[in-house]
Amino acid sequence: MASISLLLVAQVMPYLEQELNKRYNLLRVWDFPQKSHLLSQHGASIRAVVGNSNAGADSELIDALPKLEIVSSFSVGVDKIDLNKCKEKGIRVTNTPDVLTDDVADLAIGLILTLLRRICECDRYVRSGNWKYGDYKLTTKFSGKTVGIIGLGRIGAAIAKRAEGFNCSICYYSRTQKQESKYKFYPSVVELASNCDILVVACPLTEETHHIINREVINALGPKGFLINIGRGKHVDEPELVSALVEGRLGGAGLDVFENEPHVPEELFGLDNVVLLPHVGSGTVETRTAMADLVLGNLEAHFLGNPLLTPLV
Ligand code: NAP
Repeated sequence: MASISLLLVAQVMPYLEQELNKRYNLLRVWDFPQKSHLLSQHGASIRAVVGNSNAGADSELIDALPKLEIVSSFSVGVDKIDLNKCKEKGIRVTNTPDVLTDDVADLAIGLILTLLRRICECDRYVRSGNWKYGDYKLTTKFSGKTVGIIGLGRIGAAIAKRAEGFNCSICYYSRTQKQESKYKFYPSVVELASNCDILVVACPLTEETHHIINREVINALGPKGFLINIGRGKHVDEPELVSALVEGRLGGAGLDVFENEPHVPEELFGLDNVVLLPHVGSGTVETRTAMADLVLGNLEAHFLGNPLLTPLV
């Protein structure tokens, strides 16, 4: 397979990059400051693209690669890939479902506990020496709260299972009611937000879910409500979220993802009712290695003519 040209469009963990380099004629997009040079020199020979949650294959790139056969994403979310265009052109698409579910669900619960119990602030309180002058203020209990989940898929269901361990009531919103689910379904995000204490975003980013968290939803969640986003930054209307937090219309937010990563609204830095993470939902050695193996396995299956491990298109 060493003669197969593969384009890497995003920085990935060294293990994956090294393995791709061993197996393919690896082209890294950042080695070509001028995209036009990359495309004129190699566009006609590239047969595979590997990306992640930051970069994939848009319509323009797909059109520029006439020999493209497969796009393999080092992520479960495929919002950076033009899926319709891939379908139209018979280009196969794979992602990395399941192997990252536990980590992302763990992190969602971590965000909830950190936010409600103010764990980061408590840590800063001890380090700054303030404890000597008095006890830390009281915080908010997590156990027994109502958790509302947008998107009861693999990750959403894993979050629900964990929250059940904290005696939480679970409710959810998705496009379709899950007949097999024991959790309460609400037919709109606003109804879900009005009826829960903690609202967790766990759906894919699509045209429908862009800004699914808007002013109306934030106001429905209210000053005692908490928003957790482990989906994608563009699910949330960020300026609306910032003004709700600054004005005290929302209780707090735990965010792993942002609209314009790695840029985070600076107004959030001074607030103590937010927890801000640098998009690390699947960021453990174990999970990223399993995701890398899935990318490699899918590419190998494709080029050997075997069934794909996790086909999406
Ligand atoms: P999944 O198993 O496909 O679940 C997605 C769920 O969202 C489904 O239950 C689906 O149900 C629901 N959904 C789809 N469109 C919707 C809509 N318009 N409104 C409401 N719900 C909708 O996916 P997953 O593996 O759980 O992953 C979910 C997302 O998490 C990914 O797409 C990715 O963006 C994000 N993620 C983030 C990180 C991170 O590092 N923070 C890591 C991994 C994944 P219906 O079809 O019934 O609507």
